[in-house]
Amino acid sequence: MFQNVQQIQDFIRQNGIAFLDFKMIDLRGRWKHLSIPAARFNEDIMTHGIGFDGSNYGYAQVERSDMVFLPDITTAVVDPFVKAPTLTMIGDVMVIDHPANRPFDQYPRNVAKSAIAHMQALGVADEMIIGPEYEFHVFDGMTRTLRPDAVGYRLQCSESVWSAGEFPNNGFHTGPHDGYHADLPGDRTFDLRNQICLELAKWGVDVKYHHHEVGGSGQLEIEVELGEMTRLADATMAAKYVIRNTAAANGMTATLMPKPIYGEAGNGMHVHMLLRKNGQPVFYDPNGYGQLSRTAMHFIGGLLTHARSLCAITNPSTNSYKRLIPGFEAPVTIGYAMANRSAVVRIPAYVKSPDKKRFELRNPDAMCNPYFAYAAILMAGLDGIEHEIDPAGRGWGPFDFNLFDLPADERKRLGHLPASLDEALDALEADHDYLTRGGVFPMPLLETLVKTLRADAQEISRIPHPAEFDRYFDL
Ligand code: GLN
Ligand code: MG
Ligand code: MG
Ligand code: MG
Repeated sequence: MFQNVQQIQDFIRQNGIAFLDFKMIDLRGRWKHLSIPAARFNEDIMTHGIGFDGSNYGYAQVERSDMVFLPDITTAVVDPFVKAPTLTMIGDVMVIDHPANRPFDQYPRNVAKSAIAHMQALGVADEMIIGPEYEFHVFDGMTRTLRPDAVGYRLQCSESVWSAGEFPNNGFHTGPHDGYHADLPGDRTFDLRNQICLELAKWGVDVKYHHHEVGGSGQLEIEVELGEMTRLADATMAAKYVIRNTAAANGMTATLMPKPIYGEAGNGMHVHMLLRKNGQPVFYDPNGYGQLSRTAMHFIGGLLTHARSLCAITNPSTNSYKRLIPGFEAPVTIGYAMANRSAVVRIPAYVKSPDKKRFELRNPDAMCNPYFAYAAILMAGLDGIEHEIDPAGRGWGPFDFNLFDLPADERKRLGHLPASLDEALDALEADHDYLTRGGVFPMPLLETLVKTLRADAQEISRIPHPAEFDRYFDL
């Protein structure tokens, strides 16, 4: 890892680096980039930054849209997806001010950092440790062939890697629901996943394991090791970039879209989490339910209290709600359990070691801006700890039985995640005080998010859907 400008300059010289590429994160959680000739990199850039016009990044307008970008040299890595030798790094964004510039409070990395600072100020913990799981689909060909009229409807195995030219239809394929841990020769994306994971290691993303997922049409998963929250948000950006670009380099298309195929498993981004204080695990208690401490249960209580509003940040696409339905191991019920995958929070029983004792939040998907998502998750949990919210007392579990065995009227009484992006946005508008505490999520940021996502929901609801042609064209 690079620690100072001199090390970067030495690396540039020794490796013939031609360009430095700087990544900035926009409102939706997409990388934007700007490059400079490597010879221009100097100490001045590190102290004064590089000026740019931030008005097209989707954020609420600040007094001045002129901002400066400060590279974070600890994130520097050689980008293998471009021809000219290029060193890329993520950065922070400052608003120009006098006498000194100040961090732009809506910038995702800054929001994540202030959530951590808020947790430390409360004295709850020093570190938030998380572990995301990335699920995605790989198709043959490039996105151009995947127009909205083809995606998500009638797109079947024939569109997947199984039919790619180099993989003749020789009978070795995985059915739509039995891809889980599929082995060779059916698992035709093994080489691709290996390649992605080898590259991820270079980007500082430690892979825990990778495998084929349930969806037979090339649904894959990569789980990464636990790590510090802000660093893992950077890693999430890198993982999405590496997954998509490695697939593209192999003539395939990877998408992390939550529900690309109707009737098949969707893509989640479950987030595992735990807190540490003075190096000690805060969530462990050998006598608690699932060996979780009271503080952990309160954290879960906060997550479940705010689950519906949280969805607007962790599941911010209209497509997200096509995944959050029964029958596909995606969560629908507001509750917690050890054994039930339809509950929002699941406690993996196989984790015995105190310093890894954790639970996972199952609703998030990769459409989120990871910095906002992880920060909002932390803020919801902290709210639960502050108000000592006991999830069992609120009737949220533990649900260690099949929820569909409950009589229908009892099942109706259970809380459910929003059924649409609009419902999630309604929830966020009604419930966001837990996010603005300590100035972590500035109000103008939340307002802009809601406005941007409402426009998505409205526009998409107005587009005639291919399925409507099936129902109505000939009626
Ligand atoms: N794909 C499922 C989801 O949408 C999760 C499946 C699993 O990892 N058990 O969340
Ligand atoms: Mg997994
Ligand atoms: Mg999975
Ligand atoms: Mg999981």
